[in-house]
Amino acid sequence: MAPTAHLDNSSGLSGRAQPDADGFFGTGSSQFGGAFLPPPLVPVMKEIDIEYNKIKQDPEFLRELADLRKRFIGRPSPIYECKNLSDKIGGARIFLKREDLNHTGSHKINHCLGEALLAKRMGKSKLIAETGAGQHGVALATAASLMKMECEIHMGEIDIKKEWPNVRRMQVLGATVVPATEGGKSLKEAVDSAFAAYMGDTENMFFAIGSTVGPHPFPSMVRDFQAIVGYEAKKQFIDLTGDLPDMCLACVGGGCNSLGLFTAFLDDENVKLVGVEPAGRGLDMGEGHHSATLTLGTPAVLHGMKSYVLLNESGDPAAVHSCASGLDYPGVGPQHSWMKDLGRVQYETATDDEVINAFFELSRMEGIIPALESAHGLAYAMKVAKDMSKESKLLVNMSGRGDKDLDYVCDMYGDKFGIGKEGIFFGPPKNDS
Ligand SMILES: *Cc1c(COP(=O)(O)O)cnc(C)c1O
Repeated sequence: MAPTAHLDNSSGLSGRAQPDADGFFGTGSSQFGGAFLPPPLVPVMKEIDIEYNKIKQDPEFLRELADLRKRFIGRPSPIYECKNLSDKIGGARIFLKREDLNHTGSHKINHCLGEALLAKRMGKSKLIAETGAGQHGVALATAASLMKMECEIHMGEIDIKKEWPNVRRMQVLGATVVPATEGGKSLKEAVDSAFAAYMGDTENMFFAIGSTVGPHPFPSMVRDFQAIVGYEAKKQFIDLTGDLPDMCLACVGGGCNSLGLFTAFLDDENVKLVGVEPAGRGLDMGEGHHSATLTLGTPAVLHGMKSYVLLNESGDPAAVHSCASGLDYPGVGPQHSWMKDLGRVQYETATDDEVINAFFELSRMEGIIPALESAHGLAYAMKVAKDMSKESKLLVNMSGRGDKDLDYVCDMYGDKFGIGKEGIFFGPPKNDS
């Protein structure tokens, strides 16, 4: 049988997870999403919605996507049991869904290929997007090369410095990287900057949003493209253990790797779903020290959607911090806001220190260097595993690999983990100019 792509969720809670015609999840005061747009963008988003609804039922498109998933991304990604780490902790068994093994090194390629295919169908010539850690930018630049399209990536100046190898990867792939120099010079400013550029030419450009955020139809569309992660994982997990996991965990930035894993399990009431947000330097440290949007945010409109948002005293989006560039965003996808109010997903946090510890534990116990984003889900899993029985099973979405984070981690925390600042044998080439 030819492989098919999963894009339709039609039963139970996963069926209810389809937003209404205006793009809202949930009802009444727990209604999130929509499309809050400047008037010129209203017909543009409407057209994307119509075209997406066409292609998601088009066997030709689904075959093309399924084929690229297999041959280009390398799907299915494996599930791996962390026996050494689980033994050391002494409680629940910890399993990873290895999205870090995808081509380009994270889950982002799953939706980038979908968005690029859609853009191409719509006759667009250029893909434009924001990026935080650079993972979405690299994945989109990759998809653009494959589809023979132009690509322009907006990235905060601070993230450009922190994630320099990803900037080089985008440039080598032929993309233009535009620095976002306003305000906090990070992910929020990158979105603002990309949005402004997009407004200038919606005719030829397609704004390939990097997560389950923004105006309708992006939150549900990006989720549909990511849902393959959970559908694969569910089957693999049953094949491997004969059972479902007791808990699925994933970090939450905009929310796409978490919804990617959770969607297939929404109707399995015995499977606990846990989204882990960055507590940064500590939730009690106040504004600018964490990025725990669902934990401490308030419903508001940001980037075209209604969702929980971290606001400062003047009611503007707050300054945020996380050691993981892909998570420092004051907003979150609207479906998560709904899931929080509904109680179907539980939201927890991990501090930078817990994350760095998890980063080194996984590297040294299992030989897997995780992205700092993914290490949030792992850090919380390690915390709860201790108090669970040896029969319990935790499944963590390993959303990306940590190569991009090595310099940052070694510069900031190397001393504590036995790595000299200058490198153990030879330092990296000095750039004194
Ligand atoms: C971008 C990114 C994230 C955060 O984005 P979500 O939309 O919340 O998934 C997490 N992990 C990695 C590796 C990323 O690159």
